[in-house]
Amino acid sequence: MKKTVLVTGASHGIGRETASLFAKKGYNVAINYNSSKDAAKALEAELNGQGLNTLAVGANVAKRDEVEEMFQTIEKAFGEVHVLVNNAGIECQKLFTDISEAEWDKIFDVNIKGMFNCCQVALKSMIRNHYGKIVNVSSMLGITGSSCEVAYSASKAAVIGFTKALAKEVGPSSINVNTVAPGVIDTRMNRHIDPKIIDRLKQQTPLGTVGTCEDIAEAILFLASDCSKFITGQVLSPNGGLVM
Ligand code: NAP
Repeated sequence: MKKTVLVTGASHGIGRETASLFAKKGYNVAINYNSSKDAAKALEAELNGQGLNTLAVGANVAKRDEVEEMFQTIEKAFGEVHVLVNNAGIECQKLFTDISEAEWDKIFDVNIKGMFNCCQVALKSMIRNHYGKIVNVSSMLGITGSSCEVAYSASKAAVIGFTKALAKEVGPSSINVNTVAPGVIDTRMNRHIDPKIIDRLKQQTPLGTVGTCEDIAEAILFLASDCSKFITGQVLSPNGGLVM
């Protein structure tokens, strides 16, 4: 049976590459977007033009009603969701003393509440079917913390705690829940970083480079596949060895 995957935040970067990889591996793919409808629709057209099965579907993952509507749309097109990739995320680089309450709330609304919303809705059919794979995208900074990124680091550390607790709860229903915690990846999220700082990071990285979206998509695919069926509640951090 053809499996269906929902990749949140798939209009750009890591999510976009992940959606493309799953489609090429034969999954039905729901490409979630929030503000970038044109980019998501263009990806849908590109992949469907290659004979693959994808559907661009809008929803702000922080809003429960939009998430429920998104799942209904996916179920009408492809049936139940077997694999959920919670990738949608935002960051905020500021001194801790300058972060506003609204900025703090927004980070947690997207990075954590979005995951809560999508998991709760997806789990209804996963528990009933006794099958499901959930891959949550955290960050290396959720392990190490980073100066001027307290809200982001805290939200990404929360993703790890969320993953471990949920893995314990739904493991008896044969559902795997894991986290990918990427290192520095070349996406628009990092475009504002001074190239000299990127060069320094490359020098500090044992593998001598920053990562690509493909590197993360492959790790997500592995954790969503039956090759990793004995792995749950774990953190896989593709980071070139920068953090061990
Ligand atoms: P990106 O290129 O900025 O893409 C972010 C994606 O998230 C976009 O598709 C965006 O959709 C979506 N998104 C944002 N808010 C959303 C919302 N409320 N509802 C639904 N979708 C939303 O960033 P990226 O680097 O690929 O990041 C993807 C994930 O990897 C994030 O969780 C990020 O924290 C994590 N990560 C990235 C790095 C890195 O170095 N790049 C490292 C570690 C972890 P729209 O454009 O349609 O709004």
